[in-house]
Amino acid sequence: AAAEDGKPMDGISAVIPGWFSEISPMWAGKAYSLKVEEILFQGKSEYQNVMVFQSSTYGNVLVLDGVIQVTERDECACQEMITHLPLCSIPNPRKVLVIGGGDGGVLHEVSRYSFVEQIDICEIDDLVVDVSKKFFPHLAIGFEDPRVNLHIGDGVAFLKSVPEGTYDAIIVDSSDLIDPAQELFEKPFFESVARSLRPGGVVCTQAESIWLHMHIIEDIVNVRRQIFKGSVNYAWTTVPTYPSGVIGFMLCSTEGPPIDFQNPVYNIDEDEKSNESKGPLKFYNSEIHSAAFCLPSFAKRVIEFQ
Ligand code: SAM
Repeated sequence: AAAEDGKPMDGISAVIPGWFSEISPMWAGKAYSLKVEEILFQGKSEYQNVMVFQSSTYGNVLVLDGVIQVTERDECACQEMITHLPLCSIPNPRKVLVIGGGDGGVLHEVSRYSFVEQIDICEIDDLVVDVSKKFFPHLAIGFEDPRVNLHIGDGVAFLKSVPEGTYDAIIVDSSDLIDPAQELFEKPFFESVARSLRPGGVVCTQAESIWLHMHIIEDIVNVRRQIFKGSVNYAWTTVPTYPSGVIGFMLCSTEGPPIDFQNPVYNIDEDEKSNESKGPLKFYNSEIHSAAFCLPSFAKRVIEFQ
């Protein structure tokens, strides 16, 4: 059960007997649960409660402030999509920025592209990075690529200092829109994102669930349309351990060469160098790329015909 004041309970207090239940006012009245084999880590950083447990069915699980961020079994469905949807939509991205993503999984996916020259990451919480290196080594291996520059700090402040037109692509792999990630969903942040992208550059952000947060998505789409004069699109994927089992992405481009997000210009799935050095993709392929932009009618009415 939730705490009496209705606030989400932190990790350990939600382990009721032998199960972890994800309880939050952001998805009131329901909770996803996993059987816990062993709690591997519990700590508190300046920003959030951090917990890692070994589950009986999804491998190791990273939980921040009581909310599941990554499980070993289904992380591919989010990390591969949030990375390859934007990067396969433009020719030869060279400079890529990741905001959040402290587990390293997105970095691992970006490092598949041999033509990417620079991969910057700004994660607010070094405890997430340290814990991921220990308990999610196959994701945190992303930090070992020599093209990666790790900045520990707030993504909002970091972007303000970035010179105009620096990046070909920005990936915002954030937690949900409560602190410390709240500002990563707000208009001033996206004005900085647009300014930091080159003309025709792309941004992909985590954009909540069509089953839970249609009103939030509607607001997000409205703000992005005001800022991104190239195109604004919504895609989605299935992630069993995320609230309601799906997660969305907003894909936007700045004014410049037009980007047709639904029809990828690059096929990373067939890139032999990537498969040889990083192993085959588990989830993403070109067909699922295009399919991800097909929306159920109830979502289409809100997102496409506002
Ligand atoms: N990679 C996962 C996924 O596939 O969805 C999970 C998301 S990732 C672990 C979210 C990260 O965003 C967390 O490590 C959190 O510390 C970070 N974060 C939250 N607010 C931030 C901010 N303002 N600036 C930079 N990073 C932030």
